[in-house]
Parts: sequence; C-alpha cells; structure tokens
Amino acid sequence: MARIAIDLHCTFEMATGKVVVIGIFITSRWYFECGFANEDSSNSAGVAGLTTALLLAKKQHNVTVVAKHMPGDYDIEYTSPWAGANYFPFSFPNEPPRRWERNTFPELWRLATKVPEAGIHVQDGIVYVAEGLPVTGFMKELVAEDAWFKNVVPGFRVLGKAELPRGMKSGTTFKSVCINTAIYLPYLLGQCLMRGVVFKRGDVKHVADAADAHASGKKADLVVNCSGLMACKLGGVEDDKVVPARGQVVVVRNEAPGMYTTSAVAEGDDEMTYIMMRAAGGGTVLGGSYQKGNWSSEIDHDLANRIMKRCVEVCPELAGGKGVEGLDIIRHGVGLRPWREGGARIESEVINGVKVVHNYGAAGWGYQASYGMSEDTVALVEDSLGQGRAKL
Ligand SMILES: Cc1cc2nc3c(=O)[nH]c(=O)nc-3n(C[C@H](O)[C@H](O)[C@H](O)COP(=O)(O)OP(=O)(O)OC[C@H]3O[C@@H](n4cnc5c(N)ncnc54)[C@H](O)[C@@H]3O)c2cc1C
Repeated sequence: MARIAIDLHCTFEMATGKVVVIGIFITSRWYFECGFANEDSSNSAGVAGLTTALLLAKKQHNVTVVAKHMPGDYDIEYTSPWAGANYFPFSFPNEPPRRWERNTFPELWRLATKVPEAGIHVQDGIVYVAEGLPVTGFMKELVAEDAWFKNVVPGFRVLGKAELPRGMKSGTTFKSVCINTAIYLPYLLGQCLMRGVVFKRGDVKHVADAADAHASGKKADLVVNCSGLMACKLGGVEDDKVVPARGQVVVVRNEAPGMYTTSAVAEGDDEMTYIMMRAAGGGTVLGGSYQKGNWSSEIDHDLANRIMKRCVEVCPELAGGKGVEGLDIIRHGVGLRPWREGGARIESEVINGVKVVHNYGAAGWGYQASYGMSEDTVALVEDSLGQGRAKL
C-alpha cells in the first residue's frame, strides 16, 4: 500500500513541474522519498534567504542558493553582516509584521539558550524615553509601557525613576537576545549544507534567469527572491519602493551590561542611539543612523563621534566612566537596510512564465522577523507548488 502511495506522489510531482526561487532553488519534498526532483531556487545568502532555505530544506525541498555575496563577505550591497543584531520589536499593530516578530522570538530564544554554536546570547534589553524629545516614529511601539510584546519576551517591566539615567523620563526592561552575525550566518549556512542545500555564487540579472541555476541542471520549479535591498535593481522586479536606510555603527571591544536604546536623539529622526554586545567575543555595536535614500558606504566621522558620545552618556559603564576616550574601537561600519515603502513584500507571482515567491524589504528588523517571514514564504512556496494552502 505504501509503495503505491509513493508512486502516486511521483506521478503528481511530474505533473506539477519544477520551481525556481531566486537565490534559493528548491525541489519538492518528494525528492528524498521517491527520487523525483521538483526544484526550487533562490538568490540570497542574507538572513532572509538562509532562513528560508533552511525551513524549505527541513521540509525536504531540494534547494540551491545562488548569491552574489555570501557569509564572510562585507559589501555595501549585502546588509546582513552589518546588523547589530538584536530583538527589539518595532512592528505597528497590523499584521503580518506583528505576527512575523511574534513568531520569531521563540526560535531565537531556543538558539540562545540551547544552541551555543549559533552565536546568540541572552541579554537585558533597556529602552529609555528621552525627556523633551518627540518619540521617533518607528520607536513608538518599542518604547510603550504597555508594549504588545510584554508577554512574548520574559521579564518585561517598567523601570523605576531611580533606574533612569539623566535626560530620560521613563523606560522599560526585558530579557532579549543579541546575535553575533559573523557566527550566526555561517551557522545557518552549515545547517543548510547539512540538509543538502547547494550554494553557488552568481549575479542574477533577471529574476526568471534564476530558474536555470538549479544544481540539478534541470529548470527549477520555483524561484524565491530574497535579494534584499538589491530588489530595487534586479531585472523583472525593479521595485522602486525599496530604498536604503543607511546605518552607521562603531564596533568596540568594551563590554556593555545590557542592550540599550532611546526613543529619540536631539540630532533628529535619522539618527539614533543603541548599544548591543554580541555573543562570543563579537564586540559591542554602537549605533546609529537611519538615513533613508542614502547609498554612501563612506564613514562619516562626525556622525561616528556623535554616536560614541551619545552611547557613553546613556551607559557610562561602557567606557568605565572615562567617556569617549575610554572606548577601544575595533572598526567603523556602514550597512544599508532594505527599507520598503508600505512594508516588506512576501508575495507570489509569475514572471516570464517562472513561479516566483518574494521575501524582501525587512528594513531594520530582518533578524527579529526572520523566522516568521520565512514561514510565510514557505507557505506560499508550497501553495504555488500545489503542496499546501497558504493561510497568510
Ligand atoms: C546597522 C544595522 C543594524 C541592524 N540591526 C538590526 C537588528 O538589531 N535587528 C534586526 O532584526 N535587524 C537589524 N538590521 C536589519 C537587517 O540587517 C536586515 O533587515 C537584513 O539583514 C536583511 O537581510 P536580507 O537577507 O533581506 O538582505 P541581504 O543581507 O542584503 O541579503 C541579500 C542577498 O541577496 C543577494 N543578491 C542580491 N541581488 C542579487 C542578484 N542579482 N544576484 C544574486 N544574488 C543577489 C546578495 O548577494 C545577498 O546574498 C540592521 C541593519 C543594519 C544595516
């Protein structure tokens, strides 16, 4: 009886054809069961592409990832290595972004508490509301005393007056996680390799071309497009709603007692303050900026000085009370967040006859929403392949 069922599946897969994902090529789950390949592909080795590839591989799809940049590279077109990265939810009260952040925390927490080699650790999050400054737009939900995520993260509470530094009028604290991207991206890649995902370097000119890049040599059945910021230039996509939100950081050897941020800074909405110490000796990331439309990869040293000054004011312990002079700089950095007007795009469409599922545009929350976004992407992939029903 079982044998007959497998044969039927093979027949079904032969009828559905193959799927290509830009950045990740995926074959159907029946590949391992009966040896028939239903290929998907994708073009990304950022956190979006790697997480999506991993979730697809866990469901027995046969995935090839094609990427211009890979973990280990540092390039202005490749955002993921530059992120802090932590879990400080920003989503407004609308779905699906709230679901993406809510559904991601349990997995990041599991990795932080049970999988040390993932390069994620538990940290105290401390969020201050600055006196006399309007709250920066995207910080509104994060700084709320009755935050929507108060039951998602452990230990959420409002800070007492005695716990506030000078210049801050209120605040909250909770347990959260900080990701060392230099460890976590290779960790994800390793998890994919372990499950048979094939990685290839490639600069895809048109999204539909990715269908021809599957490692099997056959046309992929579906392409997953996780091209991040470069979705604004990728042929067949050329999404003009995607622009960079430039983030400049200073990475220091100093240790911080927690992860800090503030509701606003006096210099305006395109600058911010945050401190996050990465796991496993990854240094402490001091930020930052959120400069929409700015493509510059050059270090702005005046901005770097302002970042360091604000960070030691918020957390004097960072520099042993010695101010900016007490900071021990490892490097300066600039990354471009893939900001998208109207929000991130998780959608399926057919382009030049190729089935495509998009997963890009996560702006400043690509890690903290990564599992939720990838789960929705996988649901769309399986729906497109006729293997499931997406309920997004
Ligand atoms: C300073 C800074 C701090 C941040 N802090 C946080 C934080 O604390 N928490 C958080 O959740 N997020 C944070 N972010 C945001 C997060 O880094 C991004 O949302 C996330 O990295 C986006 O990942 P991605 O996979 O979509 O894009 P990317 O990492 O840019 O990956 C895109 C991939 O697609 C490939 N690609 C693109 N075009 C092509 C093509 N034509 N052909 C082949 N390959 C192609 C690239 O080579 C790359 O491999 C921060 C970002 C910055 C810059």
